[in-house]
Order: sequence, then C-alpha cells, then structure tokens
Amino acid sequence: MRGGARPRPCPGARLKTINPPRALVTGGAGFLGSHLCQALLGDGYHVIAADNLLTGRLENIAHLRNDARFEFVEKDVCQPAEWGPLAYVFHFASPASPVDYAKHGIETLRVGSYGTFEAIEAARRSGAKFLMASTSECYGDPLVHPQPETYWGNVNPIGPRSVYDEAKRFSEAVTAAYRRYHNLDTRILRIFNTYGPRMQIRDGRVIPNFMWQALRGEDLTVYGDGGQTRSFCYVTDEVDGILRLARSDEHAPVNMGNPAEFTILECAKKILAVTGSRSQIVFEPLPQDDPRQRRPDISKARRLLGWEPKIDLETGLKLSLDYFRKAVHEASNPAA
Ligand code: UDP
Repeated sequence: MRGGARPRPCPGARLKTINPPRALVTGGAGFLGSHLCQALLGDGYHVIAADNLLTGRLENIAHLRNDARFEFVEKDVCQPAEWGPLAYVFHFASPASPVDYAKHGIETLRVGSYGTFEAIEAARRSGAKFLMASTSECYGDPLVHPQPETYWGNVNPIGPRSVYDEAKRFSEAVTAAYRRYHNLDTRILRIFNTYGPRMQIRDGRVIPNFMWQALRGEDLTVYGDGGQTRSFCYVTDEVDGILRLARSDEHAPVNMGNPAEFTILECAKKILAVTGSRSQIVFEPLPQDDPRQRRPDISKARRLLGWEPKIDLETGLKLSLDYFRKAVHEASNPAA
C-alpha cells in the first residue's frame, strides 16, 4: 500500500464527547431531512439543519423550531462554513424528484460534489461520523432484479437523470475515499422510493402527483403503459432504518426501501381506492431513461441492522391522506 493510502485516525475524534452530541443535517428542511431532524432530536441530539430552501421548505421544520436543541441555518451547503464541534454529519441536501433535478440540474451536480466535499470535510475536522444519503438511482435502469448492494448499475452518464445519478455516485466515491484515505467513520445509505407527509405536493413524484390528481378529480397521468415498477417505503420505516444504520459500524453501502414491488398502474389504482376518487386513468409518454423496474434487496439491512419495513403501501397511503388533503387544499386555495 502506498503511504498516502494508509488509513489514519481522525484528529478530532475527542470532540465526540460534547453533550448533547451535535448533528448537522444538510437538506434538513427537505422531506426526508426534516423527518430525520425530528428523529435525531428524539434520540437526544442537538440538531443543526442547513438548507438553502431550493426544494426544502420552512413548513417542514416549523414544529421543531421551539426546541432549544434545534437550529436552522439557511445556507447553500456548497459554501464553506464552520459548524463547531460535530458528532455526526448527515448529508441529505439535494433536489430529489426527477422534475426538481431536471429543473435544477446544475445545482444538483454542485450539491452532490462541492456540497459533499464541504459536508465530509466538516465531519473530518470534527472527527464526526458521516452518513451520505445515496439512492437507488445508483443502479440506473437496473439489469439485475431485485438490486443488491453489490450491483454496479446501468446508468446513462449524460441523460436527463444523470445530474442526480452521477452526483450521487460521485458522492459515494468521495465517501468511500474519505474512509479509505482518512479513516473517516462513514456510512452510505441507498434510499429507494420513500413517501409520506411533507412531500411537496407539486414535485412531480408519482405519489404526490396521483394524490393531487385524485383529490382534485383530475385524470391520473400514468406514464408509459404503467408496467414499470417501484417499491415504496413509508417515511417512518425509512427513518427508523437510517438511525439504525447511523448507529451501526457498516461502511459499505446499505439498501433501504420496502421490497414490496408494484407497477405504476397498480399504484394509481391503490390511490384511487384510498382516496375514494372517481378520477380516470390516462396514459402519457414515458420520460427518457425512466427505470423499468426497481426493487431493493434488503437482506443486508435485515441481517446487519435487524431492520425491515412494517408499513405496507395501502396503510402508508392512508396514513398520508390527511397531509395530502390539506396540502391539496392549501395549494388549490392559496389565499385560504
Ligand atoms: N410516474 C407516472 N405518473 C406521474 C409521475 C410519475 O406514471 O404523474 C411514473 C414515472 O414515470 C416513474 C414512476 O412513476 O416510472 C416513479 O416516478 P417518480 O417521479 O416518483 O420517481 P422515480 O422513481 O422515477 O425516481
């Protein structure tokens, strides 16, 4: 092994004893980030949520702001910052819906490169643990099904999804390199489709889109023939898995998602049933590079973390319904 590649202890490791331990969550005002902040507060952390509100929203964290252990910093995490002593850095900042990252492609590439370096350097300076929010998109349009962590993927490096897919793959490479060269205590989490309260109603993802359409009596727009599959994980299951991975010693990537697989047409029908809507289903063109199938192999998470999702799609949709009803009402009546 060459000298530069030898793992070295982290210089700031002693700072971890600060009480309560301080966690930085980049993207802390986003859908998943805000649920994570809440769970970390419940776990006894002092939480700093950093977000530039490009796709995150202050409403997502409004209920946390009276907690003295919660801080919100409006900030582009691509810019250098001094955060003080940290025990954990969770790097969740990024547009995450295909519509959002198509709209903000350059910002997505920046936060998944410059932003990742800033976040991981903040962890290194403090001797903090670092957890990188990666994605099932690392597998692209997968040729192996279901997808185990050992699969390297089938990604178009220049297509419309590449701004997200390659930024996340690059971030995984950065994280693995800091583990290798700096002996940083890292985790890589591959998040599969997750849904629940606080999703943006208009971010274009399939569940909010169908909810919006069903609750307004509009046609449900199924792209392609609706035969493409996804596996949907309810947000509380996902966050439970994230905390388990955060507490574990696993440095290699871990898939986290619900292995129950549905076609998009089945998903549309479930949403019609749960909402009681009489909307029709219509078919529209399939976006370029839309993955044909996606289902996590979660045997590693089961074995290492004792984790598996508990909430099935129908239950999760019912649990989300009040939120979506309110979000649709507010977005449809902006003055109300
Ligand atoms: N989709 C759809 N109608 C919509 C929105 C999405 O049929 O109104 C499809 C989309 O083409 C994809 C799947 O639903 O096959 C999931 O899309 P989403 O944007 O939620 O995320 P993805 O899993 O593709 O990242």
